[in-house]
Amino acid sequence: MLKANFQGEVLFDDSIRLIYATDASAYREIPTAVTYPKSIKDIKTLINFARENNSSIIPRTAGTSLAGQVVGSGIIADVSRYWGKVLEINQEEHWVRVQPGVVLDELNKILEPHELFFGPETSTSNRCMIGGMLGNNACGSRSLIYGSTRDHTLEVKTVLSDGSEAVFGELSKREFEEKCTLTTMEGDIYRNIRDILSNTFNQKEIVSQYPDSKLKRRNTGYALDLLLQTEPFAGDKPFNFCKLLAGSEGTLAFTTEIKLNLVPLPPKHKGLLCVHLETIEKAIKANLIALQHQPRAVELMDHTILELSKKNIEQNKNRFFIKGNPGAMLIIELGGQSLNDVKAQAAEIESHFRQKGYGYHFPLIDGKNIAKVWDLRKAGLGILNNMPGDHKPASVIEDTAVLPELLPDYIDEMTKMLKRYDTSCVYYAHIATGELHLRPVLNLKDPIDVERFHNIALATAVLVKKYRGSLSG
Ligand SMILES: Cc1cc2nc3c(=O)[nH]c(=O)nc-3n(C[C@H](O)[C@H](O)[C@H](O)COP(=O)(O)OP(=O)(O)OC[C@H]3O[C@@H](n4cnc5c(N)ncnc54)[C@H](O)[C@@H]3O)c2cc1C
Repeated sequence: MLKANFQGEVLFDDSIRLIYATDASAYREIPTAVTYPKSIKDIKTLINFARENNSSIIPRTAGTSLAGQVVGSGIIADVSRYWGKVLEINQEEHWVRVQPGVVLDELNKILEPHELFFGPETSTSNRCMIGGMLGNNACGSRSLIYGSTRDHTLEVKTVLSDGSEAVFGELSKREFEEKCTLTTMEGDIYRNIRDILSNTFNQKEIVSQYPDSKLKRRNTGYALDLLLQTEPFAGDKPFNFCKLLAGSEGTLAFTTEIKLNLVPLPPKHKGLLCVHLETIEKAIKANLIALQHQPRAVELMDHTILELSKKNIEQNKNRFFIKGNPGAMLIIELGGQSLNDVKAQAAEIESHFRQKGYGYHFPLIDGKNIAKVWDLRKAGLGILNNMPGDHKPASVIEDTAVLPELLPDYIDEMTKMLKRYDTSCVYYAHIATGELHLRPVLNLKDPIDVERFHNIALATAVLVKKYRGSLSG
């Protein structure tokens, strides 16, 4: 019945359902069907069919999610096939309108002649798509300066769960009240949020229970706390439902079009100051010094990853700048109007580090070699999976974030907690914003370690809450 009314494809065979039972996470579930909607009419047909048959829809783009966001027993709606158009670029006003299946790197290539780009850059930029970036509120190594997808989403066109269409964007207080008078599902949504956020008990709970508002990377549930800071409620910012859609993982509405804010191309001259440190603890503390110098990014690699890269033929070539056996490394990205400007910034940071007793080697990498260093850093995940034997770093504490100044205590408690479970951890990634990928080494073929996986996840949640962090950054 679904097939008869569909312009795109609807597939039920086992092989395709098996392929779509996974994303980049540890989770597996076989969906009922896989569909490739071709038009808005298809999306409406799909939504109406799912509602009438009590099924769910899993919107999907590149499927690179790390926490099972596109894994489930419902109907997969893959928009990577027919929804890949860049619709409009406005160079003067710095925005672009795209369909959800546009690949990030391809978008930025198209924008380059306009001297603009989309700021949030994920490690998966060569395949991840804007619809998925919005769903996950994705960001990357430079979230310190560019923020996340939420910060740049101006407007989203959607199909709602009753099959009606709605466009969400910035509203004044008066426009918000007007929306509340609509007799459609869109009106219901505005009235509901008004009821939820006007309730003083809810307001207090949101303020006290949500992650620290200073945290840059925060995807703990729906971003109700950000809506509370808007004009119709306790704040002074314009209301925009896009703040909530970002990070909602496809659970609120089906996205068909996105209007994104763009930023000027990054400075032409860049350098990576690769600070060698003796221990991970020192690296975590030294990060706070680096942050005082307004870097573009600070990334961490720990001893395990650096050691494993020696045995990787491809990555061994990218170790040209490493001296000795560092216990950890901070990669500090600097940008400037000239190479001399970058060198001056690097010298200042090195002197500050030495004065405080952090770091023993400070190579500044520039030009073509920069790509090699980032290659080594980005390859971290792949290298980890090549750890010999059945024990592998498991993606269970993937994206927790706490304020960088709390990281020393948080990591100390985390290490002790893992010790109680008889395991240790690999530490790497976005230390500038307090978001580290912490991968406990487990053998997931062993039921005892599967139970540990579960218990470690629970203990981590308690710890993150204690530090007012975000379960997902
Ligand atoms: C090696 C590796 C490195 C990574 N590094 C980063 C990183 O640096 N930063 C980061 O943020 N993430 C990172 N990720 C996670 C992931 O790549 C990103 O979040 C990416 O933006 C997801 O895009 P996608 O196209 O794969 O989305 P998908 O995984 O396909 O979908 C993501 C979410 O968006 C929803 N969605 C997709 N399309 C629609 C639509 N049309 N309507 C409604 N909802 C929709 C989905 O239902 C899902 O909940 C990494 C993943 C891997 C495997």
